[in-house]
Amino acid sequence: MNHQTPQPDTQANVVAPSPIWAGLRGRCPHCGTGHLFAGFIEVAPACEVCGQDFSKADSGDGPVIFIIMLASLIVLGSMLVIDTVYSPPMWLQMVVWMPVMTGIVLGMMRPFKGVLISLQFHHKAGQARRSDDVSSPDQDGSA
Ligand SMILES: [Zn+2]
Repeated sequence: MNHQTPQPDTQANVVAPSPIWAGLRGRCPHCGTGHLFAGFIEVAPACEVCGQDFSKADSGDGPVIFIIMLASLIVLGSMLVIDTVYSPPMWLQMVVWMPVMTGIVLGMMRPFKGVLISLQFHHKAGQARRSDDVSSPDQDGSA
């Protein structure tokens, strides 16, 4: 009989996905299948498929600065064009653009955070080393 039992998904035989694509979809940066997030922007403790530890993943304020700059560019640019062309009252501008700004910021939060965390894993940043990376120094502060 030539019967093979399926092997568990070890970290060695996993092909890393594109960090941008995995991050945009909110998937595990190691296997590309498991979920990176446990909530809206709360990072899961570990991947449910490959077991990659996400406990050290920390994007900090990184996504927020990109989102603020991009959303401000979109909203303020649109606001200036609308104001120049139609001259609506300021209260109408606020009523329209505040929800638009909120929607853009909330919509970009998860993909941006996912991409930054995936890029940290891809580039082996200190905050998010892959758990199978034995060549990296420990974080004992001696380096
Ligand atoms: Zn995974």
